[in-house]
Amino acid sequence: MVMTEVFEKLKSLQEILVEKYALEDKIVEAPKQLSAQDELLTRLKKEYIDKNAVYEEARSKVLGLKADLEATEKNREQGEAGMDNITTHREYEALDKQITEASEREQEIRKELSGQEKDLAVLQENLKSDEDMIASSEKDLNSSKQSLDKQLADYNLQLADLKKKEADVVPGLDQEIVYKFQRIIQRNKLGIVAVRKGVCEGCHMILPAQFANEVREGEKILFCPYCSRILYYQEAEDGDAAGYFTMNDAGSLADIDDTFDDDDENDDDETETESPDIEDDETEENEDEREEDDSNDNDSETESSDDEE
Ligand SMILES: [Zn+2]
Repeated sequence: MVMTEVFEKLKSLQEILVEKYALEDKIVEAPKQLSAQDELLTRLKKEYIDKNAVYEEARSKVLGLKADLEATEKNREQGEAGMDNITTHREYEALDKQITEASEREQEIRKELSGQEKDLAVLQENLKSDEDMIASSEKDLNSSKQSLDKQLADYNLQLADLKKKEADVVPGLDQEIVYKFQRIIQRNKLGIVAVRKGVCEGCHMILPAQFANEVREGEKILFCPYCSRILYYQEAEDGDAAGYFTMNDAGSLADIDDTFDDDDENDDDETETESPDIEDDETEENEDEREEDDSNDNDSETESSDDEE
């Protein structure tokens, strides 16, 4: 296959892969939207159980007080009934005491009961509103689950379509190159970028002159030694590619740090060079090559760092 054709294929593949990976991320991320709703519901249910236990305790207290009240009332009534049959003053005094004490106790119990019943009513109301909240949360969660399922089904359709497109493009490309390419795109979005005036458009680094020349010749697939992206030659807009041949590597070396800093600060959204150390081994290897290049090229070449910017 002609190299230009390979580059075109890679560019098409890049478009497909970028979309595919974004979609795969969405498929992983989408269900997480529900986790907050899910957690809320779980918490509401747990709180409901606790509150219900408090309610049950209050309810049995009320029932106990009612039983007490009934017993005390009976006691008082017995005393009152006994009054009809008394024969002695002593009997009268005893019954009178029984009635008085029972009445007092009755008052106390009624007072406590009324307080407890009020508390119970509040607890019951709270439980009712919790039940409503749980029911509506469940309803929300279910409808969210339904729309998530719909969304995921849609994503999966799109994904299947992209996988089909990918399968159409990949044949004819070197498998190892495709594998590397996929990894670069997963990390950096762009896997194939142009070289203009000897500068990698992916990471904006000035490439070693000899290396840039090889890219220009376009005889094989070359990876940027800094960002590992595949490079293809692109004529500079003004048609002046001369800067490329006079590139001074010593000059570019001095600029490397600056270029990197600029990159991180200004170009994040555009080129995402957050991992210049991608594929460490390779970069080191390439750096060695680069140093060799330096010693070869320095003599014959002149400063041209004005190519930057
Ligand atoms: Zn690069």
